[in-house]
Amino acid sequence: MRLTIADAGVMGVLDLQGGVQEHLDHLQRIGIAGRPVKRATDLDGLAGLIIPGGESTCLARLLDIFGLRAEIEAHYRQGLKLWGTCAGAILLARENVGEAPFFGLIDIAVSRNAFGGQLDSFNIEKLAPLVAREPIPLTFIRAPKIVRTGPDVRVLLSMEDYVAAAEDDQILVTVFHPELTPSLAFHRYFARKCGLCPARDAATDRDADWTPQSWFRFGPHA
Ligand code: GLN
Repeated sequence: MRLTIADAGVMGVLDLQGGVQEHLDHLQRIGIAGRPVKRATDLDGLAGLIIPGGESTCLARLLDIFGLRAEIEAHYRQGLKLWGTCAGAILLARENVGEAPFFGLIDIAVSRNAFGGQLDSFNIEKLAPLVAREPIPLTFIRAPKIVRTGPDVRVLLSMEDYVAAAEDDQILVTVFHPELTPSLAFHRYFARKCGLCPARDAATDRDADWTPQSWFRFGPHA
């Protein structure tokens, strides 16, 4: 195995429900060690934690049942960086329109299911100049909209009437799913935010071998 500076840091992926393996696969593609996080001890020594997309109400219940809510908050207070994709972003938002916030750690307001139902999911490509030089493919699955960002929040991708990606010093939120596209740009971006050095083997930010089926894989993470 090729050694990189990234070997010094491990990225966690919350492994309760949702797109876990897809994030682990993308981390592997950029040469970052990934660790599924199911219990409190899995959080020890992480450079960052990805809270994947799935269903925020389900994730919220499981976080409480598995006793991970307070543990993640405690690690966050000690400096752990967090990235919420879609449902993960909902859980991290300070305000969840019409509903109670969960972690409430980043000063944004989200509106759940703001595009409609599952059948209103869609793919587009957009340029996010702070993240990558090329347009990034974006997959929205029954996504929320970020409808307000606070003064300490930097907008990374602004759309017509909502924000799709934003960050503060410690938290990244995206309402779409980079792990379900060939683009590695947001995984590289978050790895750098966590102080890690993602591998950059190609002149492009896309994985040429990626196919829509590549994440339908069973068995342990290779
Ligand atoms: N609609 C889901 C929710 O409200 C989020 C969907 C997703 O993560 N793709 O939690």
